[in-house]
Amino acid sequence: MADRGRSTQRGRGRRKFTPPRRKRCVLCIDRIDVVDYKQVGFLRTFLTNRGKIRPRHKTGTCGKHQRRLAVAIKRARHLALLPYTAEHIRHYR
Ligand SMILES: [Zn+2]
Repeated sequence: MADRGRSTQRGRGRRKFTPPRRKRCVLCIDRIDVVDYKQVGFLRTFLTNRGKIRPRHKTGTCGKHQRRLAVAIKRARHLALLPYTAEHIRHYR
């Protein structure tokens, strides 16, 4: 029939995505309202090992705090407290 080739299951079956356990925003738990750009050790936990800001679905931060974190990280980068790229990562804490 005309339906040929369409009947092959595409994108169906075997969904590999399983929602991970609901993470709570660590900043909401600790009731942190203002993210301080000087807390380098803390901000570092929100960076990948290449120095990028970790996405929300990885860290579990809520929208409000993710935005504040991003601003704080960018401020810290501007002051050279945090790296822009992996090249600058050294083993200091
Ligand atoms: Zn939050």
